[in-house]
Amino acid sequence: MNKPMGTIVSEAKFPVLVTPLPGPNAKDVIARDAQFLSPSYTRSYPLVAKSGRGATVEDVDGNLFLDFAAGIAVVSTGHCHPRIVEAIQRQAAELIHISGTDFYLPIMVELAERLATIAPGKEPKKVYFGNSGTEAVEAAIKLARYHTRRDKIIAFHGCFHGRTLGALSLTASKAVQRKGFGALLSGVFHMPYPNSYRGPWTESISFLENELFKRLVDPQEVAAIFIEPIQGEGGYVPAPAEFLLELQSICRKNGILLVADEVQSGMGRTGKWWAGDHAGLEPDILCVAKGIASGMPLSATITRASLMDWKPGAHASTFGGNPVCVAAALATMDLLETQYIENARRVGEYLMGRMADWPARHRIVGDVRGKGLMIGVEIVRDRTTKERAGDFREAIIDRAFEKGLLLLGAGENTIRIAPPLVIDEEQADFAARTLEECIREVEISA
Ligand code: PLP
Repeated sequence: MNKPMGTIVSEAKFPVLVTPLPGPNAKDVIARDAQFLSPSYTRSYPLVAKSGRGATVEDVDGNLFLDFAAGIAVVSTGHCHPRIVEAIQRQAAELIHISGTDFYLPIMVELAERLATIAPGKEPKKVYFGNSGTEAVEAAIKLARYHTRRDKIIAFHGCFHGRTLGALSLTASKAVQRKGFGALLSGVFHMPYPNSYRGPWTESISFLENELFKRLVDPQEVAAIFIEPIQGEGGYVPAPAEFLLELQSICRKNGILLVADEVQSGMGRTGKWWAGDHAGLEPDILCVAKGIASGMPLSATITRASLMDWKPGAHASTFGGNPVCVAAALATMDLLETQYIENARRVGEYLMGRMADWPARHRIVGDVRGKGLMIGVEIVRDRTTKERAGDFREAIIDRAFEKGLLLLGAGENTIRIAPPLVIDEEQADFAARTLEECIREVEISA
């Protein structure tokens, strides 16, 4: 049965599929998309979205999906939370844009104050606002170079920091993201990301000290080391706390700034404001975006006040700190603080509990890892060899879509579980059951 565009199936918590996928309206949009949109976008499967409520998304044919991708870990408070919608509508009626880089705006100050309060470390903080994760990273690169008067940067294999040319120079997730764009920023070095499933974290520190610092770059020339405390796009890999603290101490010893890119792992997703909080990390610069404003484009680069010493005109953005986005961020922080960070911790723990024994029970599940509602399920050809199986991963995600569960991949062969932080245990159960069913189907047919 086809539903005309514009009707909402229900406020149901679970998938309701009413057409084959993709449905007729979806097929039409996909054909027009192919004609007019950039072919650089990667679409995993044919979801054509129309509306969203909480953790569900309705497509243009009236099919309802359970969303465990959250717009790539963005809609932290769920789709169209009434408090967020209300804050956006109220602010849009009052003032849509003024350019906070030229004029003052009370709510911009209010948001900066609140972010400064929750950023790790006791020293007073300052905040730079941009529009996207890559801009938060771009600002961090420029500020690190400006403040230290050093120009070398170290980042990690597998990490993703964005796609503008500066941030892309740090990104080392997939070659296709860099291919064809010519020379990137010079003076950028990469080191192995610690991955407990594949080796001891000490190897990564040893590479930094014995290879990079001895053969390629003097630490005194390094402005900053950029790290995702939980690697996101690269495979949902948490860095061990001991590793993060050791890295921090190496940075301090050498006058290198430690930049935590918490664009994906931040804003409560892991059950604390920042993934680094689980280790007691105190980065010099913190990059935030994605979940900060429940889907409105906003990013923040947060540092100690004494570090943000660039002069007027050194860096700015027309839209950065847009009033409507800032209003959405303030409402998002209220909701996260009072309900959803704790929910992410509780339901995340529950979901982990449901999935922890999968590597023991499934030949093709190598590892289940993560914190809060940032969980990676690594799919391998055979758990004894740990050979990465991207084809199995794709097949599992496609099957999940056909059952109404939206998931995304991360890295070469990991399934990323990043639902809105509003899900309840029943939805977690449904997702775990459905995902396990898909894993079993692929395992049997392999
Ligand atoms: N940093 C991290 C850790 C990310 O996960 C992403 C996006 O996935 C970015 C930076 C770039 O963010 P954006 O796509 O908003 O530019």
